[in-house]
Amino acid sequence: MIELKNVVKSYKLGTKRVDVLKNISFTIQDHSYVSIVGPSGSGKSTLIHTIGGMEPIDEGEIWVNDQAVHQLNDKHLAKLRQNMISYVFQQFQLLPTATALENVMMPLLTVFSSGFVKQRAENALKRVGLAHRLHHLPTRLSGGEQQRVAIARALITDPEIILADEPTGNLDSETGSNIIHLLEEIHKEKGVTVVVITHDEGIAERTNRQIQILDGKLLTK
Ligand code: ATP
Ligand code: MG
Repeated sequence: MIELKNVVKSYKLGTKRVDVLKNISFTIQDHSYVSIVGPSGSGKSTLIHTIGGMEPIDEGEIWVNDQAVHQLNDKHLAKLRQNMISYVFQQFQLLPTATALENVMMPLLTVFSSGFVKQRAENALKRVGLAHRLHHLPTRLSGGEQQRVAIARALITDPEIILADEPTGNLDSETGSNIIHLLEEIHKEKGVTVVVITHDEGIAERTNRQIQILDGKLLTK
């Protein structure tokens, strides 16, 4: 379960303060499929960054299962992202000098032996339909394939939660739709909670619940 209680977050830009999340509270139950929608600049990316502890908050509480994310140190946050929460980004964020297989192995390389991690990475790449692309560099892959590698990298840790920030934003509509179907399959197969930020109404309507954000505040629960 993900629970936010009265979360307040601002960025400091020199002497200016930009209030981004203004007292946000909501709960996302286990095994949910949820979208976060709202205009550009409304705070959607910041919101999901705070859930995995990638951005600290100023006030409030963030709970992921029994873990108080707002109180965890860097070591425990790293652990949270190694066994509970994975991210998928609009720009894929693959390491350009590493092959698909090496990219997928990365989250677990410091945790388990490389032979074990390699096996898991191969399985994850197989799951996303890329068994034939293990040794390709990202530049040799299409956008859709790169996003599949990113999803395989998200899967290798066997997460309970996948937070996807406009995962189809850089893809044509057919490729994007295939990526969304893949995330939906993963949600259904494994009961993974999928939270997807999207500007695409069609994608938002497919989710079981839409969380709407406007100017750092929640519109509906
Ligand atoms: P988009 O749909 O364009 O991706 P968003 O809803 O994801 O927008 P955020 O990226 O969360 O919005 O940004 C919310 C606000 O916070 C914006 O005003 C943005 O300029 C500001 N902001 C985001 N990141 C930072 C940062 N690192 N430093 C300062 N301001 C930031
Ligand atoms: Mg964003």
